[in-house]
Amino acid sequence: MGRVQNKVVIITGGSTGIGQAACHLLSKEGATIALVDINDSAGKETVKYIQDHGGNAEYWNMDVTDESTIEKVFKEIEQKFSRINVLVNNAGFIGSNKPTHEMSETEWDKVMNINAKGTFFCTKHVIPYLKKSDGGSIINISSIHGLIGSPDYPANHASKGAIRLMSKTDAMIYAKDKIRVNSIHPGYINTPNLGESPQKSNASPTDPRTAFDNLQPLGHIGDANDIAYGILYLASDESKFVTASELVIDGGIYGGRVFD
Ligand code: NAP
Repeated sequence: MGRVQNKVVIITGGSTGIGQAACHLLSKEGATIALVDINDSAGKETVKYIQDHGGNAEYWNMDVTDESTIEKVFKEIEQKFSRINVLVNNAGFIGSNKPTHEMSETEWDKVMNINAKGTFFCTKHVIPYLKKSDGGSIINISSIHGLIGSPDYPANHASKGAIRLMSKTDAMIYAKDKIRVNSIHPGYINTPNLGESPQKSNASPTDPRTAFDNLQPLGHIGDANDIAYGILYLASDESKFVTASELVIDGGIYGGRVFD
């Protein structure tokens, strides 16, 4: 019996990085995976890998900024798998690393639309299905920069702060429906969305990874599975008494030394 046996889990942005690791891990633990993303080739490959290893998964092209497509795809997911139990709002876009006074409205809006509005749209349209399933779990992927500032990526950090509070508000609104809503706050994780090192000026140009590793209290950045295990816990019934919480998985940054 897996830790999320028989749960139907939607994972946005599941084609690569953290989302892909969560697809693999939750599938191994018995979940049926509805992978939704705009990266069709990587998404279909991820689904094929899961199916080839005996898991149950399906891919849908779905842009989290397109409300009518979300409505249509969630309906198809419910029709295909007969219920929805968990939503992981993971799709994200880090945007331009520019100071606020150089950022255009278009650059700001793109990040806010994918990260914050996308979380809103997917939450809005999954709620009726979770109510029908007599409860469920929504897991919103924020960031360590939804909790603390840093001198870079202003739109990304603003969007991640918004996601943190959206999670708490929705946790309060839907507690009566047995729908739990929590945020996860990853530190620096080795994925295509990692971004530039906050201390890139001190980094050796040939080894930006070392610059990242040196910033971490544990001495190295995380990998996608470090976050996937947090997603697994919040998706499972092991966390049945956990809502409105912030799960920080960051190698120690939030607890102490930061960008000194
Ligand atoms: P990733 O590897 O870039 O994966 C993100 C996925 O989301 C990609 O497949 C991407 O497709 C997809 N996506 C982008 N825009 C989308 C849209 N409008 N609709 C649907 N899917 C979309 O990123 P990651 O590093 O795993 O990050 C996953 C989440 O963790 C993000 O919310 C990110 O902000 C958060 N996070 C990451 C880190 C880190 O260090 N990596 C730290 C803190 C928080 P394309 O490949 O086509 O763009």
